[in-house]
Amino acid sequence: MKYLIVGNGVAGVNAAKTIAESEPGAQIAIYAAEHYPYYNRWQLPAFLAGELSQEEIYFYPEQWYIDHGITVKLGLAVKAIVPMARQVILTDGAEVRYDRLLLAAGSSPAVPPIEGANQAGVFILRTIDHALAIKEYAARARNAIVIGGGLLGLEAARSLRVLGLSVTVVELFPRLLPRQLDIQGAGTLQELIERAGVKVITGAATEQIQGDGKAAGVRLKGGTVAQGELVLISAGIRPNTQLAKEANIQAKRGILVNERMQSSAPDIYAAGDVAEFNGQVYGIIPAAIEQARVAALSMMGADVAPYTGTIPSTTLKVVGIDLTSMGEVNPEGEGFTELRFADRAQGMYRKIVLRNGRIVGAILLGDKKNVSPIARLIKAQTDVSTQASRLSERDFDFRTLFAPAAPQASRYECTVCGYIYDPAKGDPEANVPAGAPFESLPEGWVCPQCGASKAMFTRLED
Ligand code: FE
Repeated sequence: MKYLIVGNGVAGVNAAKTIAESEPGAQIAIYAAEHYPYYNRWQLPAFLAGELSQEEIYFYPEQWYIDHGITVKLGLAVKAIVPMARQVILTDGAEVRYDRLLLAAGSSPAVPPIEGANQAGVFILRTIDHALAIKEYAARARNAIVIGGGLLGLEAARSLRVLGLSVTVVELFPRLLPRQLDIQGAGTLQELIERAGVKVITGAATEQIQGDGKAAGVRLKGGTVAQGELVLISAGIRPNTQLAKEANIQAKRGILVNERMQSSAPDIYAAGDVAEFNGQVYGIIPAAIEQARVAALSMMGADVAPYTGTIPSTTLKVVGIDLTSMGEVNPEGEGFTELRFADRAQGMYRKIVLRNGRIVGAILLGDKKNVSPIARLIKAQTDVSTQASRLSERDFDFRTLFAPAAPQASRYECTVCGYIYDPAKGDPEANVPAGAPFESLPEGWVCPQCGASKAMFTRLED
């Protein structure tokens, strides 16, 4: 079988890995517009801040691709798909046949139509090249403005701060992280961010980026002007659906897929940021990884449990601020109960959303230890109604809602991608033998699925 994959991001590469591991001898080719091998896109803010080198964010060494029989063509994108002929046409004009095609071209930053966005000093952050360009410009700038107070915007703001710039975040919504937080949580987060030296202006529509060819500042609706020679626009993502649409593959916001990740065209699948399942474009790593696995197994004709969606879960990757949001945090409609614990001075906020006695969503700010237990309670739909009154206590330990822990080394879960380190298995690829407890892993050990450091893991109770 000849598998062709468009895109070398987290979905494309994880699908290739699944195929390579389950079908030795399969022909797998990845075509990528970018010139860099697969890297941890979520670590771009750390790369921008100079905390990680370019080599450090590359995920696999060259040899890994060779060992897995995966061919990667960098800087060679697919420019057209001809589904009837089971063929793609590359940017260099070559035609390549496939048996199964996976569209995993990801997404691009959405850039709202702002006057003056075309000037020098205005950036987006999605690729290594973007980060390099920002870094170079930042060396000559003193003030930066980040338009957009979402996860990436806040992470990038911190990076620019680390580079020594004064940073102002401008958010259109009346609060930060509107999708992941509620009013109270966002207020607490804003205080933490301001304490870290980043200025935040919410409820602020950007009317114009000022400057005479070079950005000089941002004028907000109402007339306020924020000064800054470096402007980073971080206004969400736009799935790269053009290729599919031109081939008459059905797409709305993303390429429409069913529970086997099949698109409307025969033998063409989609996964990751480019895919839309059940009306949702997830744009988060755990969804890309799950979808890639389902797509790979479906493409191989293997038995695979249908994809049913991913519980949205995001963690803010800003040093010193532990924030995770999962599931339904701002429920609409009837039948929901919200339980809160807040200590603004300590930067703590916990909100638990219950429905029928089960946790369906949570915001955890400054409460890292409960992240994994709550994720697990959401997945298992455990009835916690008998303990509900205690869930808003400061020191409530959600692990007590499980059966008593077995006397064995604990498993740990990666808060970035959902990977579970199981001491019974170890991590053979990193020469960690079976039986090695998480605590014994060397400091330099990183998540084999996304590259996160040990600090990004939380303990799971069995
Ligand atoms: Fe991970």
